[in-house]
Amino acid sequence: MPKPPEPTGERINWISSAPFLAFHLIPLAMLWTGVPARALAMCAALYFGRMFFITAGYHRYFSHRSYRLGRSAQFVMALGGTTALQQGPLWWAAHHRHHHRWSDTERDVHSPIRGFWWSHLGWILCERSGATDESRVKDLAKYPELRWLNRHDWVGPLALAVGTFALGGWAGLVIGFGLSTVLLWHGTFLVNSLAHVVGRRRYVTSDTSRNSLVIALLTNGEGWHNNHHHYQASARQSFHWYQWDPSYYVLWLLSKIGIVRDLKTPTATIRATGLVRAGHFDVGMFRTRWHVATVRLAIVGVEVADALAARRQLLEDGIEAARHDLDAYVRAQRLAFEELAAIRRAVRSLRLVPVGGLSLR
Ligand SMILES: [Zn+2]
Ligand SMILES: [Zn+2]
Repeated sequence: MPKPPEPTGERINWISSAPFLAFHLIPLAMLWTGVPARALAMCAALYFGRMFFITAGYHRYFSHRSYRLGRSAQFVMALGGTTALQQGPLWWAAHHRHHHRWSDTERDVHSPIRGFWWSHLGWILCERSGATDESRVKDLAKYPELRWLNRHDWVGPLALAVGTFALGGWAGLVIGFGLSTVLLWHGTFLVNSLAHVVGRRRYVTSDTSRNSLVIALLTNGEGWHNNHHHYQASARQSFHWYQWDPSYYVLWLLSKIGIVRDLKTPTATIRATGLVRAGHFDVGMFRTRWHVATVRLAIVGVEVADALAARRQLLEDGIEAARHDLDAYVRAQRLAFEELAAIRRAVRSLRLVPVGGLSLR
């Protein structure tokens, strides 16, 4: 069966993806630099520090506006986000808003129904993901300094790379900057890939988002992804004290000193509404399983059609062979009768009397 054509812009662009893929080789230089404790400490600090700017900044602030910031704090948050090498704040927010608009459908930019690798990495490598759709982030695009950072998203990472080199030498650059950036990428990508696959569904949502402690530990609290899809406006993704959410703890502290304002948190009613265990119909899982079943049925349908076609061919070949044998048999019989008729004619013409009681009549 011919392969269906790839949707426009979804072919992996190996040329534009080359720097991103090559960056993954940087940590190998540890073999030459060694692994000093200072570089490891920088790696951990820059992993969790930059994860804060991604989760609390790019995600909860720029994508969802779940609290308010003054203009200079907003700039610092955006600049901090760019140091994670995940493109600019407008690009990130535009793509994330698209994810929430079309969660788990074919139009979802990193739809989990298209498999782990696509939602984790594949969508980033393709051409379509490169542009920023400003129509989705008009509220952010009105700030020229954010547009500038979006265009010059290399400034923050470059400054950070120079800083790690100045503080920790080659090991600082390779481990503090390089290794922590690679880990930070894949830690963040887990929210797009596994947070819709691994964990528990507490709330009924129209997608397959889940709550996972492991992902929450790796991402400063973004693992409570089902909570987040249930109530996206919240700056707090943990809905209970026992759910680990350090990005929220820092935001809460910043709100106490007046940097962060109007932190939105879920009310008791929101937390108690739409619980799966209360027996609500889980439309997200139903829709996804229905989709998977439809796709599988289509595949089975093709297999059955192929098997039927092969069986039919076999039958036709058999019939053809039997017809051929029958033709040969009829031809042989006709020849035998013709031979007998010729013998009878010869006997009659010679007026011979049949011997041994043989009768040709
Ligand atoms: Zn979100
Ligand atoms: Zn999601």
